[in-house]
Amino acid sequence: MIDDNFLNEYGNILYQTEKPSRYIGDEFGSYDKDFNLVDGKFLFVFPDKYEIGISNFGHKIIYDLINKKQNLLCDRLYAPDKDFIELLDKNNKKIYALESKRQPKEFDIIGFGLQYEMSYTTVLKLLELSDIPVLSKERNDNHPLILAGGPSCANPKPMNKFIDIFIIGDGEDVNIEVLEKYLELKNKLSRNEILKELSKIQGVYVPLVDNVATKRIAQLTYENHPVNSPIPHFPSVHDRAIVELRRGCGRLCRFCQASHINLPIRERKKEDVVKLAKEYVKNTGYDEYSLLSLSSNDHSQIEDILKDLSCHFRGSGINVSLPSQRADKFSLEIANLAQSERKATVTIAPEAGTQRMRDIINKNLSQEQIINATISCVKNGWNKIKYYFVIGLPFETYDDLKGIPELIEEVNKACRENGLKYPQITCSISVFVPKPHTPFQWARQNTIEEVQEKIKFLRELKDKIKNVKFNFHNPKMSQLEAFFSRGDEKLSDFIYELYKNGAYLESWDENLDLDLYSKIADKLGINIEKTASREYLDDEILPWDNIHYGVNKTWLLDEYKKAQSAISTIPCEVKCNNCGVCSNLKTRKVICD
Ligand code: SF4
Repeated sequence: MIDDNFLNEYGNILYQTEKPSRYIGDEFGSYDKDFNLVDGKFLFVFPDKYEIGISNFGHKIIYDLINKKQNLLCDRLYAPDKDFIELLDKNNKKIYALESKRQPKEFDIIGFGLQYEMSYTTVLKLLELSDIPVLSKERNDNHPLILAGGPSCANPKPMNKFIDIFIIGDGEDVNIEVLEKYLELKNKLSRNEILKELSKIQGVYVPLVDNVATKRIAQLTYENHPVNSPIPHFPSVHDRAIVELRRGCGRLCRFCQASHINLPIRERKKEDVVKLAKEYVKNTGYDEYSLLSLSSNDHSQIEDILKDLSCHFRGSGINVSLPSQRADKFSLEIANLAQSERKATVTIAPEAGTQRMRDIINKNLSQEQIINATISCVKNGWNKIKYYFVIGLPFETYDDLKGIPELIEEVNKACRENGLKYPQITCSISVFVPKPHTPFQWARQNTIEEVQEKIKFLRELKDKIKNVKFNFHNPKMSQLEAFFSRGDEKLSDFIYELYKNGAYLESWDENLDLDLYSKIADKLGINIEKTASREYLDDEILPWDNIHYGVNKTWLLDEYKKAQSAISTIPCEVKCNNCGVCSNLKTRKVICD
């Protein structure tokens, strides 16, 4: 229930802000526990706007698991938009946690979800708005511990000066373990002593100690999956129930960080997936649920799961979405089961236009498989196809780029031969970002000039094909992503300067000030393009070398060398490639509890 005191204090501000429902909490499905009746208080902060953060599945898991513990509480905070910050400032008011309406500094731990590098400056601004020193070294025993988790922690160095604790790997168990350990020690030891103790927990990296951190892996059980979550008062980016089908992917595409940092594969039992989907939909009233995975049709029982669920939901108008299907395992039956209620767009990810390039990136996908999957869809009523491609990949030539429109021409030719109308094709084309902990971590990124030439080349070829649209990702954004994700601690000063000069919510194009980046780069003597586009030497110590996800660095390097000769690696489920995960993390190939 929204408290009268809160409305008296903030009502006037809420009335004037653009979307007040971002800031009131009390959503259906929220826990709203009593702040005074728990021992440990964790504030999950998503450093982006409410409508983005509320859809994030990772934060729903942590929120649910902590709140299920009777003596603990997890509240939420999303980054307020600029108009709300101005109103708070004008009225001399502070930001507050969504449910308890308490100030962030009243919590034991503040945990930021770092999903992408462009949220770094937002983290700093949110600390300032919380009256918490932005620099870790200026915090004292009375301040909450500042924690971060999520994929951007794969290289914590650029945020080392601001974050006390990074969570490496799955957060299910370790966040609670850190909070409980903190409660045990907080009246006995100083802040720095506590941090040193916490660095001994597997899955924790503490910059103060600069320890070697090995990731944590969680099992996918029925108990650690939510069956309810806060339903926003207004539409968010994804309004649907989510059931995580599988974590990790043994395909080992060489550019893909998610694949390499989430091994080993964990598969949720069919009975649990079905039960969770039914309960989640019933509890939330959503008319859609998504079966989340890096590669949905790699689940060993996907057809049985979909059959059970489509039988259960038949005639209800409730749809299932499968976010990622592979063309080589494409099954019409799965596609029909997944889109039985309405035929939306089918998405296929060839990633590259030629076989040579697909072998370089280890996509293990033939042209025939891509064309067959597309033709199957068109024959069966799907007339909108979306392809994902990446350009600027290591060892790419202009012939490889030409392969993208040539592939579309081949699809059109196959349509003609089968007497089919051409589908509407959209190609979403992103720029390669060399990511830590992948075989391509040593590779250089193309410069902006190189990327622009490639885009121009592709645009000219595309003009000759009528049924295709090319959407290019912003190359500057990709460059900044590479800059932040492969930089070292020197980037802390860069991020700090950006924040000091007003950078905030930078993943939104309208907030990204590229002139500011140039000015700060000049001031600090940092070359953004050089950092993004430099090739690391084979024997160089990389800024993220003390963060271990289980995969051996020597194995990653071998994969990079194999890429150079366009040699593929067989998927891990088919044959173990001795990447190191199973022995280093004392686990096994596919875990299904
Ligand atoms: S060690 Fe083998 S089975 Fe285990 S994750 Fe690596 S490739 Fe897969």
